[in-house]
Amino acid sequence: MARLGSWIESHPEGIYVRPADAWIDPSQAKARAMITHGHSDHARGGHEAVLATPETLAIMECRYGPQGGGQPIAYGESIRVGDVDVSFVPAGHVLGSAQIVLEHKGEKVVVSGDYKRRPDPTCPCFVPVPCDIFITEATFGLPVFRHPATGSEIDRLLHRLHADPTRCVLVGAYALGKAQRIICELRERGHDQPIYFHGAIERLNQLYQSFGIDLGELRHTGGASKAEMAGHIVIAPPGALNDRWSRRLPDPVTAMASGWMRIRQRARQRNVELPLIISDHADWDELTTTIRELEPTEVWITHGREEALKHWCMTHQIKACELNLVGYEDEDD
Ligand SMILES: [Zn+2]
Ligand SMILES: [Zn+2]
Repeated sequence: MARLGSWIESHPEGIYVRPADAWIDPSQAKARAMITHGHSDHARGGHEAVLATPETLAIMECRYGPQGGGQPIAYGESIRVGDVDVSFVPAGHVLGSAQIVLEHKGEKVVVSGDYKRRPDPTCPCFVPVPCDIFITEATFGLPVFRHPATGSEIDRLLHRLHADPTRCVLVGAYALGKAQRIICELRERGHDQPIYFHGAIERLNQLYQSFGIDLGELRHTGGASKAEMAGHIVIAPPGALNDRWSRRLPDPVTAMASGWMRIRQRARQRNVELPLIISDHADWDELTTTIRELEPTEVWITHGREEALKHWCMTHQIKACELNLVGYEDEDD
């Protein structure tokens, strides 16, 4: 009998699905690509044909300009690509993010892309799909990574904001996904004040709004005086935190929303006063709970700390291996 999943090849530049003649999240331009989500390490520009959710295609157009061969596939829709049945189901990571479900000759393979299990007001929840092979990310694949409840982190942010109305709180958050999620999480916690934003996230905010995500009242920092921004939250990409740009803000308390804020040294490197542990990736418990739930025969592990998760799988009688894909950054969290 052929090895399980022998029709799927792992190459440094991505996962190649031979009977579909298609690549998943390739790091180089390909004739046919299936894209899990819009983060730039997964969604490169320049492919001839792209299969992705409408939201992901819109994100790619926003970043790379018009994509000629874009073919939208909605969550739950199934299509045949070559000799493979393909469907996209929610991954709960960012707007439009999907797991790719592949079925060929009676074998079912799920490629998770990046995912998380906790609720996110900007995208539908991860849908567990039992399978033979689960290809999982492991960005936070160490038992030390256990993300706290999102609501309590947001409350710490609001507490800090209200403690000194002469200052603003500047939150570093990745431009795609995290920034819009923080805004929505604040709204869910009852914060209805205007939220200021750095120009670099404006287009993605608008894209989220165009897909019906309500971000409440947003204001560009560009036209605002220091006095106006006092007592308010400002959202900016992480690169702007220690940038000259931040001098226009009223004595900012520097915060950063990322799973990496669990590591004090990373917070210190960025001069972050208020580290908020808010991640768009599964933590250790979410990774292991998901594998338990899906009951795959094999787990293939990609970008991250593969070793510990591989060991965990083996102690739970699940065959596991690491895929050596290059080009994935852990910077999207
Ligand atoms: Zn991502
Ligand atoms: Zn990723």
